[in-house]
Amino acid sequence: MTEILRVENLKKSYDGFIAVNGVSFSVKQGELKALIGPNGAGKSTCFNMLMGQLRPTAGEVFLDGSRITGQKPREIWRRGVGRTFQITGTYQSMTVIENVQMALISHHRRLFSFGARAWRLYRDEAMDFLRTVDLQDQADRPCSVLAYGDLKRLELAIALCHRPRLLLMDEPTAGMAPQARIALMQLTADIVRDQGVSVLFTEHDMDVVFAHAHHIMVLNRGALIADGSAAEVRNNPKVQEVYLGG
Ligand code: ADP
Ligand code: MG
Repeated sequence: MTEILRVENLKKSYDGFIAVNGVSFSVKQGELKALIGPNGAGKSTCFNMLMGQLRPTAGEVFLDGSRITGQKPREIWRRGVGRTFQITGTYQSMTVIENVQMALISHHRRLFSFGARAWRLYRDEAMDFLRTVDLQDQADRPCSVLAYGDLKRLELAIALCHRPRLLLMDEPTAGMAPQARIALMQLTADIVRDQGVSVLFTEHDMDVVFAHAHHIMVLNRGALIADGSAAEVRNNPKVQEVYLGG
C-alpha cells in the first residue's frame, strides 16, 4: 500500500523536558491507525507537530514523499491533511446542513460568490455528506439542539468536505458515552473503507481501539514502544507493562 505520511525521528522538547523523543512511523493509504499511550505520553504533541501547530525540535515529516516539516497549519491542510477538533467547531446558530454547505463553499473557494445560488448549488452535495455520517434526518435542525455525539459526526462530515487524504483525530470520542464511542469509530472505519482516506487517531477506550484500528502504535514517555497489528501490540511485553503496570 502507498505510504501517505512518514515521520522520521520527530522530537519536541520544552526547556529541557523531552515531550516527544525521536518518533518514527508511517501511515499508509486507506489505513485506520491508532496512537495510544498513557496521559502525558506525548500523543497530542505529536499530532500538533503533524498539523503544523507546533514546530518540532528535530526530525522530519513527509507527506506523499515531500517534506512538510515546520510548514504552517493552513499549508498542511491545503495539501490534504484534515483534522477534527476536540472543541466542536460548528456554528451553533446555523442548521446542520448549513454548516456542511459552508464547508463546501469554502472548499470550492466560492466564498466571494456567497449567495443564494451557492447555497442551492451545494445543498445536494451537503446532503450526501450528511448521509455518510447518518445525519440526514437532522439536516434542518439548528446545531444548538444536537446531541454531543451528533455534533461529533457533523464535525467529521465537515472535515470530509475538504477531501482530506489523511485525517488526524485527537481523542475524537472524548466526552462520549461508550455506545456513542463505538458508533463513531464504526462510522470512521466505514469511511476509511469506502473512501480510501487514511485516519490517524488517539483514543482512551482500548475496546474501541482493538475493535477498529488496523494498526496500533503505543507511545510511552515520548517514545514508541510498539507499532503493529492488534495481536502484535496486545502480546508485546513492553505494552503489557505500561498498561498493566506489571
Ligand atoms: P498526551 O496527549 O499523550 O496526553 P501531551 O502531548 O499533551 O500528552 O503531553 C506530553 C508531555 O509534554 C506532558 O508531560 C505535558 O505536560 C508536556 N507538555 C505539553 N505541552 C507543553 C508545553 N507547552 N510546555 C511544557 N510541557 C508541555
Ligand atoms: Mg492528548
